[in-house]
Amino acid sequence: MSMDFIRLLQETIGRLLGYIFRFLRIKRIEDKVSKLQKVITKSEQECYKRNVNHENLHRIPLLQFNEKIAIADDFYINTKIVTFTKTMAKLTGLIYTSGGGGTCFLQKIRRLVDEAGNSTGRAVFTFTTAYHVFGAEDKLLLDWITYKTKVILFYDERIEDFFNEKKCPRLKECRLLDTDKEEGIENDWCAIECEVDCSKVFVTNNQEKNLVDTLESCLQIYKTQQKEIYELLTNNTIRKNLVIIVGHPHYRPKQVSVGRHYPSLKDEPKKVRSGQLWCRYYYDAPTCIGNSGSPVFIPGQPIAGFGYWFGHQHNHKRNVPENLFPDKYEIARKETPKLQFLGMSSIGVELC
Ligand SMILES: [Zn+2]
Repeated sequence: MSMDFIRLLQETIGRLLGYIFRFLRIKRIEDKVSKLQKVITKSEQECYKRNVNHENLHRIPLLQFNEKIAIADDFYINTKIVTFTKTMAKLTGLIYTSGGGGTCFLQKIRRLVDEAGNSTGRAVFTFTTAYHVFGAEDKLLLDWITYKTKVILFYDERIEDFFNEKKCPRLKECRLLDTDKEEGIENDWCAIECEVDCSKVFVTNNQEKNLVDTLESCLQIYKTQQKEIYELLTNNTIRKNLVIIVGHPHYRPKQVSVGRHYPSLKDEPKKVRSGQLWCRYYYDAPTCIGNSGSPVFIPGQPIAGFGYWFGHQHNHKRNVPENLFPDKYEIARKETPKLQFLGMSSIGVELC
């Protein structure tokens, strides 16, 4: 056999194997997408809020949320708040674990350095969420590692993007950092950390971008925009009881929920130390399973420390069952007679 023939044979086999592997990879992803689609459909069919929430005009896919958004009734959303919400959405991820899933929010990025102060090429992302997304509470601290926690970023457009790691980077090295469990207070907040390689990239609009640089800049913009909104509010140009929640209801690509919160229902279970207050908000923005841990933005909250937040902001906790809290519904319906469901946030810390 001539050398040319052998080379040709090798090339043909190589090409053939390439086709087979590509085919198998596409097939594997198609299988995963169809499995995820089934999980979403099942979760939506079983949702007791489906008739009220799923077609609700107050819940908008992120990519359709813009300055011209028409929301039923008298909701007018200031342009600055729309822009801010989009920044907040970039910092919002889907978190999934062996025990369940929900939404998480990037609060902080820390670049790691060695003893001499040189970069190690690694960074730590701190996310906040609700600890019931793990499907466990008391056991969480002990069995953390078994929950195999992952965070998916920029899952904004299509269900199949969930498996497209170039578009939607997946963070795997996560650990539990802190929870706010406290005797006598129904808390549900926790912080997790994920370690990321500083050279990690993702693709957006056919352009490759550095993940750590991009998110660091988003965090900076987030703080600046939040400050601007706080100032606008003091000039009375923004509706006072507006609430905006960004999340992944039923594990769908990102959606924005808009509604009002009810200041008269606000819980204030504890004063931490002078000038600081633990509190919880109640609101009617439509939320479903998967929204747990979502960032809850209330313009003008007097929270300091991180922009205008102290340490952490409020995350969405859960629906408020009417049979357990009839008084809350009665008070809220004085303002909104057609109110169907109330949601509550986790405890956050404010200035008072
Ligand atoms: Zn639902």
